[in-house]
Amino acid sequence: MTVDDVTPPDITADQIHTVDDSDFHAGHCCLVTGAGSGIGQATALALAANGLTVVASDIDEDGLLETSERAAELDTAGTVQTVTADLTEDDDIERLVEEAAGYGDIKYLANIAGLQHIDAIEAFPMDVYDTIHGVMVRAPLYLSKLCLPHIRDTDDGRGAIGNMASVHGHYVTAEKVGYNVSKFAIRGLTRSIAAEGNGEVRSFSISTGYVATPLVTEQIPDTAESRNLSPQEVVEDVMLGQARTKELMHPVDVANLFVLGFSKLSRHLNGGDLLFDGGMTHTYE
Ligand code: NAD
Repeated sequence: MTVDDVTPPDITADQIHTVDDSDFHAGHCCLVTGAGSGIGQATALALAANGLTVVASDIDEDGLLETSERAAELDTAGTVQTVTADLTEDDDIERLVEEAAGYGDIKYLANIAGLQHIDAIEAFPMDVYDTIHGVMVRAPLYLSKLCLPHIRDTDDGRGAIGNMASVHGHYVTAEKVGYNVSKFAIRGLTRSIAAEGNGEVRSFSISTGYVATPLVTEQIPDTAESRNLSPQEVVEDVMLGQARTKELMHPVDVANLFVLGFSKLSRHLNGGDLLFDGGMTHTYE
């Protein structure tokens, strides 16, 4: 894999896995954050292809437009509705859940939005830390708090909340303290939801290694500079060095894990983490 291969091709219908699940229908709604790009966009498309009404949210309006266009091109069985919202603003979060509830019974929530910042702890800007924490920890908690009553209010009171974690929620790399702290925290939130879900509202997290998205491609130059490496060395040595599977995952691969996690196939997945990291965290040398 070279640095030129990190932009994945557009998702095609045959890459999306579908589950025959009686809860996957247009009357049921899944709220997906970060849905204007990368993993969130792929997840919105995959869940719509599975028949759900998807409320795709992001701060990036153009990205959301692209998500709707892709859904139309793929002719997904369920629709994709878009709501622009800034997850650092409580008013936006409240409006988002209110609008989502207008599109169907909220049964599922996928907390995917995120951002990265590379700096040593001594240099880490606290305002950036606050934004990372706001988007990647506080907003998932507040969205969960607001969506839980909706899920409990559905016919059978059942549903699920899926949170995007990372290998950085298992172990960490240097100069990503905001991200590392947030990913450990989201696994704590996942378990807290499971603890309070009474077996009816499930929660799970997904931890992957590097996935070919703008969040990753945009950090290659910074990492190269701070570690005095070439961009190619960053991909081969830093991103894939410890993985046994020597290729970046594609967003659709992660989207299919959200489909799995929300589906009846995962009825015993509660509080757990789907660690799909190509062997990164369980092997050494
Ligand atoms: P991405 O940059 O393609 O998408 C992230 C999205 O989050 C963007 O559309 C962005 O606009 C949105 N966002 C950022 N700040 C926001 C805010 N204030 N309000 C609303 N939306 C906001 O990145 P991605 O790689 O698809 O990342 C998605 C998630 O997956 C993140 O939580 C990330 O940490 C996680 N993740 C990514 C990788 C990877 O290698 N790409 C690996 C493991 C985990």
